[in-house]
Amino acid sequence: MFKTEQFIKNIDKALESIEQRVIVERSTENWKVEYKNGIEQFSNHTLAKQRAAYYRWKSIENADKLLIEFESNFQKQGGRVIWAPEAEDALKEIEYILNKYEQSSIIKSKSSICDEIELNEFLTEKKHIFEESEIGNYIQHISHEKNFHPIHASMHQSKEYIGRLFNNKLSSPLRAQHTVLTDTFAEHIRDFSSNARIAITGANFLIADSGSIAFTEDEGNINFISTNSQVLIVVAGIDKVLSNLNDLDILWPILSGHSKGKNSTSYQTLISGPAGTAEEGPNEIYLVLVDNGRSYMLSLPEQRQALHCINCGACHQVCPVFNMIGGQAYDTVKTGPIGIISNSLLDTKNKDLKSQAFSSPLCGKCNEVCPVNIDLKSLLPSVRNLNNMQDASIQEKYGWISWKKMMLKRKRMNQNNSLKGFMLKTMYKRYWGDQREFPNHSERSFNQLWIDINGTENDEDKII
Ligand code: SF4
Repeated sequence: MFKTEQFIKNIDKALESIEQRVIVERSTENWKVEYKNGIEQFSNHTLAKQRAAYYRWKSIENADKLLIEFESNFQKQGGRVIWAPEAEDALKEIEYILNKYEQSSIIKSKSSICDEIELNEFLTEKKHIFEESEIGNYIQHISHEKNFHPIHASMHQSKEYIGRLFNNKLSSPLRAQHTVLTDTFAEHIRDFSSNARIAITGANFLIADSGSIAFTEDEGNINFISTNSQVLIVVAGIDKVLSNLNDLDILWPILSGHSKGKNSTSYQTLISGPAGTAEEGPNEIYLVLVDNGRSYMLSLPEQRQALHCINCGACHQVCPVFNMIGGQAYDTVKTGPIGIISNSLLDTKNKDLKSQAFSSPLCGKCNEVCPVNIDLKSLLPSVRNLNNMQDASIQEKYGWISWKKMMLKRKRMNQNNSLKGFMLKTMYKRYWGDQREFPNHSERSFNQLWIDINGTENDEDKII
């Protein structure tokens, strides 16, 4: 089945779930309160966003030079950088490292790029034993589902569902309270980590001038697993590069303010190389630098601004489509307004994903909340145009030529309304979904209706 058809089926299914919509609505209401608190920390929020946007713009515009600078500085401090043009290259390199250390037991942390390259599926296929150390990701992983939201991976799951899941997997009491569930999970991860010598995680930023990898989190699990591992593998997209360490002065608070409504996250960590002999931490650090379509995005002067994203998830929270259908309906790692733009540009293999870019009413709410001022509202139609021009089939091109011919002549527009109704039904019925009744095309043309109401001939034909 084409992804477009699957997407429509998923939407139908999601719309049926009242429970999910209630949970998402509640989460969005909570986020709005948090967001209000989060932006109050800035005496001039507009200026803070402009500065954050400028830092991201500067970094992406100079990504070619900055990545080399980062590599050189990071390697000077003992880290190793591996460039991976495609997802398959990244997986091969990770497998090579795991085999080198003869490790089959791995502790992971939250990382959307690991999801993008389908690392979990790969590790499972290669029979490695691994565990997710972040509770939301763990819930989604053992549920065999993709993450629902970039920050709150399992926000749609009810407490009862998680209780049953943990009872089954971790033997916690069936009707346990939140604190019991989180304690049971923390104990499980502590036990697992004590045997896992290798940790794999993503990164928030790669700082070129200091050669450091920057992480931010509330749970402390990246900190915990990286300190306790002997070998740390960091997987990061090339878009994570940032020119200066000082840029974090604004990017850290703006990220925590927009994602969780806080002035600061609980943990902000910089790793610049392996631990020294007297220090705790990994003896080896590998950074797998993944392109996977990002160079193509960089080559598009207009659309490359999608790479400025700092993954705060704010645009998801205000998107009316995301709020109605939720993250699972997309069936992709990236979701929400920025996700549908990135998916349709990044996933060059799965051209059918490009239809996702049409699932937006272009209301512009996402623009208002984006901390780095990405113009999502303009990007969506530009991505649609780009994809249409590249991928239209011969039939579609002829279809549009005929449509244009018809639209330019009033006489043709007035003709054969029942045929027009039949054509519309034939072409669009399957995209309309099962939840709504397909509207009947009027038997009379606009021109005929106009004469009925106004009693005069509409003579636009003469103008044309
Ligand atoms: S596009 Fe903007 S609002 Fe959306 S996740 Fe990225 S940074 Fe946040």
